[in-house]
Amino acid sequence: MSYDVIVIGLGGMGSAAAYRLAQRGKRVLGLEKFTPAHAQGSSHGGSRITRQAYIEDPAYVPLMLRAHEMWDQIEHDSGEQIFHRVGGLIVGPQDSGAITGSRASVEQFGLKHELLDASQIRTRFPALRPLDDEIGLYEPGAGFVVPETSVTAHLRLAEQAGAELHFEEPVTHWEPGKVTTPLGTYEADHVVVCPGPWAPDLLAHLEVPFEVERQVQYYFTPAESLAGYPIYIWDRADGTMFYGFPEHDGAVKVAFHTGGQICTPETIDRTVHAHEIEAITTAVTQPMPAVAGTFQRAATCMYTNTADRNFVIARDEGVTVACGFSGHGFKFVPVVGEILADLTIDGATRHPIALFDPARLRGGA
Ligand SMILES: Cc1cc2nc3c(=O)[nH]c(=O)nc-3n(C[C@H](O)[C@H](O)[C@H](O)COP(=O)(O)OP(=O)(O)OC[C@H]3O[C@@H](n4cnc5c(N)ncnc54)[C@H](O)[C@@H]3O)c2cc1C
Repeated sequence: MSYDVIVIGLGGMGSAAAYRLAQRGKRVLGLEKFTPAHAQGSSHGGSRITRQAYIEDPAYVPLMLRAHEMWDQIEHDSGEQIFHRVGGLIVGPQDSGAITGSRASVEQFGLKHELLDASQIRTRFPALRPLDDEIGLYEPGAGFVVPETSVTAHLRLAEQAGAELHFEEPVTHWEPGKVTTPLGTYEADHVVVCPGPWAPDLLAHLEVPFEVERQVQYYFTPAESLAGYPIYIWDRADGTMFYGFPEHDGAVKVAFHTGGQICTPETIDRTVHAHEIEAITTAVTQPMPAVAGTFQRAATCMYTNTADRNFVIARDEGVTVACGFSGHGFKFVPVVGEILADLTIDGATRHPIALFDPARLRGGA
């Protein structure tokens, strides 16, 4: 069978790419190792922060402006609610990376925000107890998206636009023009590879070192209701960085952003241990005593980190790749889908993607 484009991996990014390519009239085959919106990769767990106050680098802001426009569009096209615009609060000492980084992006792009001192945070959000030297940057347009709903909505829209999607059909070999699975070999003019934490296996030819990091999502029944609270990111002077969400699906979720074990999708320890639950409970008890009410459950997930934590998006002859999202990719899903369709069909994109060139990462870890 021959197609215009084969998309390998139908997780967060691949589902969006399949939709945008099919929408632009391409004959698309999507191949996925697991079932739709599965929990084995990086796009599960019920919630992902989205914000435009971009701690990591203001260069991401133009992409976030487009992503927020496109989240609205995908909700309209699919009839699903994906984006919960609950607002976002970044908390830390004045000179912490989270505060200086987010301030730089809101100032550079004139983004709507408020700066709050510790007592203003306590008054406005009584369940949060910042230390006296911690401040907050509040972004009213921030919130969270639901990754599973995003994946299923994009997959359904892709099929409606004519894409053929195969699940539980892992790719065992691919090269430009040709993709092999246990069920056969398919041909296409172009291959788009969105492998998430399987990047070291499927994209070895890039010669880019990726580090897959295990991260745990913890769910609690809070001691008092956090309904109406924003998402938050807390960057503490002691080096801990954690983030969390208001109530969603009967729980509040919190997680550390750093310090996970290096693993592979085959070796990851899926068991969450008592000492880990104790560590997150200890970290949140002083700043948010209500959050760590009763522990409900936990779920592991994987980050695919590059050395500088910026993404990898690139096009070569017959191949476009998107990987290395380094634990902060989900909020970009719709715009990454658009970029991958642009690169595949037009050979270029109007979006600023120079930061994602894999050449920067070659020649040493
Ligand atoms: C705990 C956690 C919290 C996060 N929080 C945030 C956040 O708050 N905000 C944010 O923006 N980002 C966040 N992220 C990051 C974000 O979720 C990821 O960047 C994003 O999900 C990556 O999507 P992906 O498509 O690259 O990977 P995936 O969704 O994992 O997709 C890759 C797909 O490829 C498939 N595949 C692999 N090998 C094969 C094969 N051989 N054949 C066929 N299919 C194959 C896999 O099965 C999978 O479905 C978080 C990630 C984690 C783990």
